[in-house]
Amino acid sequence: MNKAKKLINLSEVSLLKDEDCYKNAELDYLTGCFTFKSFRENAACVMRKKSENNLSYFDIVYLNIERFRFYNEQYGFERGDELLKVLAKKITESFPQRIIARFSNDCFGIFTYDIEVPDAIQKLNASFYEYTLDINMSIKAGVYHYSSADTLDISGAVDCAKLACDSIRKRFDTLYRYYDQELERRQEQVQYIISHIDQAIEENWIKVYYQPVIRTLGREVCGMEALARWDDPQYGILKPSFFIDILEEYHLIHKLDSCIVTKVCEDFYNARESGRPLVPVSFNLSRLDFELCDIVSLIDEAANMYLIPKDLLHIEITESILTENAAYIKDQVERFHKNGYEVWMDDFGSGYSSLNVFKDYHFDVIKIDMLFLKDFSLESQQIIASVVDMAKRIGVRTLAEGVETQEQLDFLRDIGCEKAQGFFIDKPEPYDMMCDHLRNLGYRFEAPELRSYHDDLGQVNFLGTNPLDGYEDLSRSAKFKERKGVPLGIFEFHQESGHFIYTNKEFRDALASIGIYSTDEAELRINDANNPFFQKCRETAESILGTTEEGYIDMVANNCYFMVRARSISSYSEGSAFLVNIQNISENGAVSKKILLDKSLTSLYSMFSLVDTLYLDEDTDVPVYMGANYYIHYGRQSLRAGIKAFAENEIHPDDRNAYLAFMNPDTIKTRLMTTTFESIDAFFRIRIKNDVFEWRQFILARFSDKDQNRVLFCIRTTNAHLTDQTGIQM
Ligand code: C2E
Ligand code: MG
Ligand code: MG
Repeated sequence: MNKAKKLINLSEVSLLKDEDCYKNAELDYLTGCFTFKSFRENAACVMRKKSENNLSYFDIVYLNIERFRFYNEQYGFERGDELLKVLAKKITESFPQRIIARFSNDCFGIFTYDIEVPDAIQKLNASFYEYTLDINMSIKAGVYHYSSADTLDISGAVDCAKLACDSIRKRFDTLYRYYDQELERRQEQVQYIISHIDQAIEENWIKVYYQPVIRTLGREVCGMEALARWDDPQYGILKPSFFIDILEEYHLIHKLDSCIVTKVCEDFYNARESGRPLVPVSFNLSRLDFELCDIVSLIDEAANMYLIPKDLLHIEITESILTENAAYIKDQVERFHKNGYEVWMDDFGSGYSSLNVFKDYHFDVIKIDMLFLKDFSLESQQIIASVVDMAKRIGVRTLAEGVETQEQLDFLRDIGCEKAQGFFIDKPEPYDMMCDHLRNLGYRFEAPELRSYHDDLGQVNFLGTNPLDGYEDLSRSAKFKERKGVPLGIFEFHQESGHFIYTNKEFRDALASIGIYSTDEAELRINDANNPFFQKCRETAESILGTTEEGYIDMVANNCYFMVRARSISSYSEGSAFLVNIQNISENGAVSKKILLDKSLTSLYSMFSLVDTLYLDEDTDVPVYMGANYYIHYGRQSLRAGIKAFAENEIHPDDRNAYLAFMNPDTIKTRLMTTTFESIDAFFRIRIKNDVFEWRQFILARFSDKDQNRVLFCIRTTNAHLTDQTGIQM
């Protein structure tokens, strides 16, 4: 493609009138419009001449096609060029005999007078509309209107028109905007910021404010975010919304960000020296930091200089970083990881969030955008919950930004979003002020040794249908508010006692269904050495601690048979946490409540340590009642396997064969049919604790003559064996 500019051939350019001004004008090779240089010179010339004739109202229009890039991508550059030629022609039709230039790819400039600019733009847009449909392209125009006393040169006017045009980017309902006072103020800001950034850094106007991040489970302060503030001697404290965009636009942002990184490291250093609490700090990077400097090395140098462990520094980047130059950014993200930093994704869900990014990049944490909490609708709650669920499935931790109410914080805790940040906890403040303020509000800083323990707790997914592996999949209601999850709690054991640090509603409901109406009440029982549950909980916890094994406890309380299942989550020097599920078996229909509450059966409880129903044909059992020390549930495996395992683990070795013969499911029916009594019984020694065995009477009884499949199995504490019922002597 010949990109050389050609000199004007006036016969080609029908739009030109005042030939005096256009001698030696340069034209754009593609469209025949003026180049920017010629536009500037000739517009100035025409303006001067017209002014001499008392015409003093002129307009400069800056015109841009939004989303033109996508047209090029879809149809190729050749068709893209054709479209630009069409547009140039249509501009000349809408603005006849005026000065028209192509400034760059899809940006045009128009110098005009004596014309209703809005009408002309509307007309142009209408005539161009048919070309824009499938790509959803649109024309955007910024207009600078010269008034009589205006002395701004053409370049300045083009800048202003461009600013007006840029300000309506992505606003599908707006076609044009005049440069106005608001934009003028913005322009002044821009000038101020770009001409003072170096001074602001040198003279310490740039400050770091910190906003705390807390754990939703224990509310400890587990981190903080460093946010830039510009403490201006003239304007006071300026927020990032005032200067970040400008610094990005003028490619100066890396100066600010490297200054912030150094200040964060300095603050860390001073805090350590003065014995202040230390928690990790996250800070924000811009996409351009990766282009304008070697940001990874820069952060490394600052961390090394102030001896800051890298795991105390977390990098926040937004998704927009990942859209361009993906391979390079991926490399840099990996470099951060390799050097020991966590990399967090900021504002997840704010823009063009795509789950795809999780396939290509690893993020340690995603920060869920505050817009979701702002409108705390059911839909937003569903989205937050789904994001948390998804993140946990792929091993990414979650933090919600913009928490402004207790209700929001409770919700986040409930769904297992592990960290929260927002004005409800505290606003961003200078480091020392923030520490004092948090202490006054009663917050504790997380001790370093608890960090990984709490991280482990945060990984538990309360929303999954299957949080304890192998768990029954309980169907979930389509309506989120009515969702029915698995009853789950996290129980933390300490040396002396234990307590729940989390329970979901389903867990509390399950407790209530067995007559325990609060977690405090449950804790009282678990911590009461006289309660049979006390010992069993501790034994089970000890046996599964640090393993992936699942622990079971079967108990009867308030005439309800229930089962507790537990898994070890994590531990630290003074405590260990377990994920706990509870199921009220009697309520689940496995044992009908009617049977349980039957008066005659209730009287059995006082006589027997265990009452179980064996279903011989189905090779399973359903416990009816278990005394304090009995946790037999054969049917967890098959009945046969259960009997065998019980014989091996719980029956005295000398009694084992006799026990297996007595419990043999293949002969139970025949033996019960041939006995003249309703039942058969025998005595075996059963393990009470470690190597201590005691005699028990084992009874198998018929339910009825008709139902030979169902057999009542009981274990009874008795001294009867001493008078020899089985021939086994002590
Ligand atoms: P961000 O990283 O998402 O930071 C959170 C912003 O939300 C902060 O605004 C914070 O003050 C504000 N915020 C926190 N909690 C709440 C809340 O409960 N409600 C509401 N309405 N807002 C809350 P800030 O400090 O004005 O920063 C705005 C953005 O500027 C930041 O968003 C970040 O993208 C950018 N930024 C801040 N500091 C830096 C920096 O040093 N470098 C770069 N590149 N960007 C920065
Ligand atoms: Mg951030
Ligand atoms: Mg954010």
